[in-house]
Amino acid sequence: MSTSPRALIIGAGIGGLALGIRLRALGLPTTILEKHREPGGRAGVLRESGFTWDMGPTVITVPGFLDALFALGDAPDPLGGADFPPIPATLAGAGTRPASTTRYVDLRPVVPFYRIFFDDGSFFDFDGDPEGIRAQVRKLAPQDLEGYARFERDARAIFERGFLKLGFTYFGTPLDLARVVPDLLRLDAVRGLFRFTRKYFSSDKLRRVFSFEPLLIGGNPLTVPALYAMIHFVERSWGAHYAIGGTGALVRALARKFKDLGGELRVNSEVVAVNTAPARPGKPRVSGVTLASGEHLDASVVASNGDYARLYLDLVARRDRRINADWRIKSMRQSMSAFVCYFGFRAEGLALNLRHHNILLGERYEALLRDLFDRKVLPDDASHYVYLPTINDPSLAPPGHHAGYTLIPVPNNASGIDWATAGPALADRALHELEARGYLPELGARLVARRFITPDHFARGLNSHLGNAFGPEPVLTQTALLRPHNRSEDVRGLYLVGAGTQPGAGMPAVMMSAQITARLIAEDLHL
Ligand SMILES: Cc1cc2nc3c(=O)[nH]c(=O)nc-3n(C[C@H](O)[C@H](O)[C@H](O)COP(=O)(O)OP(=O)(O)OC[C@H]3O[C@@H](n4cnc5c(N)ncnc54)[C@H](O)[C@@H]3O)c2cc1C
Repeated sequence: MSTSPRALIIGAGIGGLALGIRLRALGLPTTILEKHREPGGRAGVLRESGFTWDMGPTVITVPGFLDALFALGDAPDPLGGADFPPIPATLAGAGTRPASTTRYVDLRPVVPFYRIFFDDGSFFDFDGDPEGIRAQVRKLAPQDLEGYARFERDARAIFERGFLKLGFTYFGTPLDLARVVPDLLRLDAVRGLFRFTRKYFSSDKLRRVFSFEPLLIGGNPLTVPALYAMIHFVERSWGAHYAIGGTGALVRALARKFKDLGGELRVNSEVVAVNTAPARPGKPRVSGVTLASGEHLDASVVASNGDYARLYLDLVARRDRRINADWRIKSMRQSMSAFVCYFGFRAEGLALNLRHHNILLGERYEALLRDLFDRKVLPDDASHYVYLPTINDPSLAPPGHHAGYTLIPVPNNASGIDWATAGPALADRALHELEARGYLPELGARLVARRFITPDHFARGLNSHLGNAFGPEPVLTQTALLRPHNRSEDVRGLYLVGAGTQPGAGMPAVMMSAQITARLIAEDLHL
């Protein structure tokens, strides 16, 4: 085993890259080991026939977290030592980024954040302008204007306490949790989010508008705690952004920053075991990892950016796991999965009512969510998230074409669905719906490229337990202290980072987890 500290990170997702950058900024020799030939993980990229598709995340929020990462090591901290960027009075200047960021990536604001369509063809444009939101509420349900004012007040209070005050808290002991429970109860932040919206809105449309967002990080709006009402304010506070060249360009920028700081990124390097040395008395201590090639690498710090369940079930020996035992992992709820169909089509002469980000809600909402999360069946109807970045960035498609994707939430592989059969049929159905519901007229005739992924991509490609797309499901019993810990309770020197650990899934949360984990490592190594 090496004597001077050295860190290995398993996985080059956004979380692994962000942690790598932070550890290098602390001066720790760091290597990231990635199974695939490119970094990114869920934020991977598909390329075919001149089209470039972001495979997963598309809505970039809290760009200030990225500014903080790109400045590490060679520029003044743009957050001035604070955890959060200041909240601007308006989003008018939200596109201005420090030179330390623009050197790596071109981030631009996207407005509206989403266009949310209802099944009757009406829509709600969500952006950061409070007056604009009120105008949209007035258009859809004028009787709910007063309710929106109350929602805005209460959701803001949850955001201030749950995100701005607690966001970077590491919940390692019951005491950490006990300190915050009274506030969460007072704010009614533990009630299910959809029920929470009922207190404010009589309109079904508005209840959907103000509760769908957790779906983008694997949460069921019916069961996710109202704590997640904060997402509304996370977006409103700093805006929604896009990286020119797609999220893939952001991933490449993070990888470049890591290497510029002296980090080593090894691709095609799947880790098959986390090795330990017995310590007497006490917990075993990490000693390194073994790769699929059989190579052993020594390290005093190993951080896993991969799936929480698969880390403990596959990589850490059972004898080393007293807390993260098989029964505990298997009794946890894994988040839903995602079916994503990527498509390219001829654009000439097409007038589009779609925007960069679109939510197409179907007729059913609560019943559809129960089908997905409780019954775990593939319904005949669907709600879609449609991403059409070529509206703002033509570089992602050949001239005269659009590149887009449609994401349909589907049950994870606990469903037993055979995706080899169900996948092609769902791709046909998804694209047909976009055409038949009038969102993309003549899509069938204009289509020139099509690919899709199913939960099997997450299960086999990304080593995700049951093909979950977002890690452990964000329910109350898997939040904060009850979510997997960033510092392993079982093995000294083993840490977790990313969507599977605290605080949770989504790019901002994953970057926060990198900061929390880096702090724990610095504390443990006295850096
Ligand atoms: C379809 C989709 C859309 C989304 N949209 C948004 C959005 O718009 N905005 C947003 O903020 N979030 C979004 N999310 C969530 C967000 O993408 C994720 O929470 C985040 O990217 C997860 O990053 P991560 O670093 O935790 O893990 P991952 O991206 O899963 O990275 C883990 C990495 O570890 C590697 N790995 C795993 N096991 C091993 C091993 N044994 N050895 C070596 N390498 C290994 C994997 O190959 C992978 O590269 C979306 C997610 C999906 C699936």
